[in-house]
Amino acid sequence: MIVVFKKDAPLNEIELLKDSLKQKGFHIHESQGENHYLIGLVGDTSILDPSVLRAQTIVDKVVFVQEPYKKANRRFNPEDLVVDVCGHKLGGGYFSVIAGPCSVESRDQVLGIAKSVQASKAGLLRGGAFKPRTSPYSFQGMGEEGLKLLVEAKKETGLPIVTEIMSISQLEKYHDMIDVIQIGARNMQNFDLLKEAGQLRKPVLIKRGMSATLEELLMSAEYVLAGGNENVILCERGIRTFQKDTRNLLDLSAVPILKTKTHLPIIVDPSHATGVWSLVEPMSKAAVAAGADGLMIEVHNDPVNALCDGDQSIKPEKFDCLMEKIQKYLEIENKILN
Ligand code: PEP
Ligand code: MN
Repeated sequence: MIVVFKKDAPLNEIELLKDSLKQKGFHIHESQGENHYLIGLVGDTSILDPSVLRAQTIVDKVVFVQEPYKKANRRFNPEDLVVDVCGHKLGGGYFSVIAGPCSVESRDQVLGIAKSVQASKAGLLRGGAFKPRTSPYSFQGMGEEGLKLLVEAKKETGLPIVTEIMSISQLEKYHDMIDVIQIGARNMQNFDLLKEAGQLRKPVLIKRGMSATLEELLMSAEYVLAGGNENVILCERGIRTFQKDTRNLLDLSAVPILKTKTHLPIIVDPSHATGVWSLVEPMSKAAVAAGADGLMIEVHNDPVNALCDGDQSIKPEKFDCLMEKIQKYLEIENKILN
């Protein structure tokens, strides 16, 4: 349930009402914008009589929220969330490109790629140190060593680091080294991991599970938000398909649909969505047109010999060209490349 206050409502009266609602056991979510002040009530609202609330002179209206996600709900937060990553903004008109290799493979590889994507105006560096591979015999990532190399690349370039964490123990041990905690498609419904990420106060990027509905994705975000961590970014990375030409099916309509449902920034990963390097550029342009707040793109200096996802990785020169084109599309969308 949402209670919207009148513009001239005295603050002390609002506080009194909030206190009485807290005493009834509700968690209060506040949202203050230029033109609104509202509170969202999380809890069993069936015990409340909305007409009693409406009767208060300070209350403008009372709105019921049917959706199971509350804190992730746009009704609770009418304005777009701008996530701050080490001073770098993402969302609400700020468009960010997260670029880098699928996996960290060596010092030269990650430093070289980091420098080149930075020169092409990427805002954040990606790179997997812990890799969720379908086969236990495939390269599993460099682990801690890989994280250290990412930190070194950050020191050299200033680009904040986005990297996947697969377990609670990794989260506890390494969260200090990482700027954006990525929770991958395979872990989107690892609720214990989401709860732990909710205890942090740094941004969490949740990738849509390959068979997850949008409501399930939003409920995963709700787990993080419910813990008090308000910095969640969502990522559309393609869903399962019977079609054999692409690895997944990029569900681009998810972007404008999610925009109506949530205030959280939505980015698109055309690399994992298509699995084909030549489709990365057209799908990146389409993502901008669909209203995405950012892109996640795999870039590799030597895709043919990459230890993971070489087929979908673009070379730094191709990335540079893509970034040039993307900026023209961003102008049309009135977004700032950041
Ligand atoms: C990745 O970004 O490295 C990754 C494994 O992506 P996803 O979880 O979307 O498969
Ligand atoms: Mn990959």
